[in-house]
Amino acid sequence: MQPIYSLIVPLYNEQDTLPELVRRLTDVMNSLDEPTELVLINDGSKDQSLMLLRSFHQQDDRICYINLARNFGHQIAVTAGLNFVRGDMAIILDADLQDPPELIPELIKQWRSGFQVVYAQRTKRIEESWGKRFLAYWFYRVLRKLADIDIPTDTGDFCLIDRSVIDILNSMPERTRYLRGLRSWVGFNQTAVPFSRDSRFAGEVKYTFRKSFKLAMNGIVSFSQVPLRLSTYVGLFAAIVSLFMALLILYWRIFVPHSPLTGFTMILVAVFFLGAVQLVCIGILGEYIGCIYEEVKGRPLYTVSEIVGFKKS
Ligand code: UDP
Ligand code: MG
Repeated sequence: MQPIYSLIVPLYNEQDTLPELVRRLTDVMNSLDEPTELVLINDGSKDQSLMLLRSFHQQDDRICYINLARNFGHQIAVTAGLNFVRGDMAIILDADLQDPPELIPELIKQWRSGFQVVYAQRTKRIEESWGKRFLAYWFYRVLRKLADIDIPTDTGDFCLIDRSVIDILNSMPERTRYLRGLRSWVGFNQTAVPFSRDSRFAGEVKYTFRKSFKLAMNGIVSFSQVPLRLSTYVGLFAAIVSLFMALLILYWRIFVPHSPLTGFTMILVAVFFLGAVQLVCIGILGEYIGCIYEEVKGRPLYTVSEIVGFKKS
């Protein structure tokens, strides 16, 4: 039977959480009123995750999986899932049970009442480190200020999206994928469902600081050009300051016998300051050029070594 609901779960080294995840998701799937498929995307795990996926599929043919040929990162894994799902809508959730599967019926209820995008918005982050909460809090608020579109704060990738939105996302060729942003960018009727985010069921966090930082950068670079304009503003500011300084020095030269602006210190500070500003500006430019380079190369987003369970119906 053609599935109506699709669940997408990207995973990377999640052998400790998988059995519990599949148990809870199966309970939810059994309680739903329409045929459902569970699409697990193995993002190049190095542990026993793939073996587990194989056995899950043998026990329950509603469970399908895609094995990416290496680790491509969470956003790309979700993208792969979106490319393969067959349902009229898809729900994306994490493998570590931080996104409670029991919220799925509530998301579906909102979808049935006419919303094409239903995102889960966290009200609490239980047991996440102080530093992570602090950075996440400020990142979402800064991004909201910088971005040209309205990206709701405190939303992760846990959401439901309608087939019309899935098709649009699938037709977007861009490589620097920041799905939370793209999801807002498409428009349509969107609504939030509040939930409190549980702590990870088992295992280590797979989003290392480096990966989170990259995601944050991608979010800013793909949705805002304000950082590019920043160098113009800083440049203008420096020009005005130097004009003022020139006038001041002229005044001191003519009217004050011993100019207070002597010595290396002043010059050194000015040189270092401008040097730093220039380097930062070049760095910002570099971020954007790096993204352009990624896009221009036009490589496929991911490579797949195994696709199991997607029977043509
Ligand atoms: N994940 C992935 N590929 C990666 C890193 C993470 O598919 O390279 C998955 C991971 O298995 C989990 C989800 O992305 O299902 C979120 O990762 P994690 O819980 O480590 O990060 P959090 O969002 O909680 O900070
Ligand atoms: Mg997590």
